[in-house]
Amino acid sequence: MKEEIKMKIKYVDKKKIKNLSGFANFETETVYVDKDLIGPIKRFVLEHEKYHIKDYKKLKIKGKEQSLFMWEFKATIYAFVRCPFGGILVIIRNLYPPRLISFLKFYFFKNEKRTREIARELMKKNV
Ligand SMILES: [Zn+2]
Repeated sequence: MKEEIKMKIKYVDKKKIKNLSGFANFETETVYVDKDLIGPIKRFVLEHEKYHIKDYKKLKIKGKEQSLFMWEFKATIYAFVRCPFGGILVIIRNLYPPRLISFLKFYFFKNEKRTREIARELMKKNV
């Protein structure tokens, strides 16, 4: 039998989540989404963050670790399948030069340590 995960979903001001579009708190199983995103992008981000929580549970059971790239890649594919229109809009949005630069920095000059620090910080305080 498939285990149901009871996730909480909160739509918040993005300032509360360090200007991210979305964030998944694994400990409280809460997904945070920037409330000001437009509909399709909001749905895409929601699916993406929900996947992070499911993925975290799976990996925890198996006792496995995974790179930041794989975390994001899997969650993005999952969201894309469920919300292709939102996914296309996210791609277009990320082609805007300042966003593209921060996106590439995130993936390639990757600041994995910093990303994990931000996640830990956000997990500690209850937003
Ligand atoms: Zn993500």
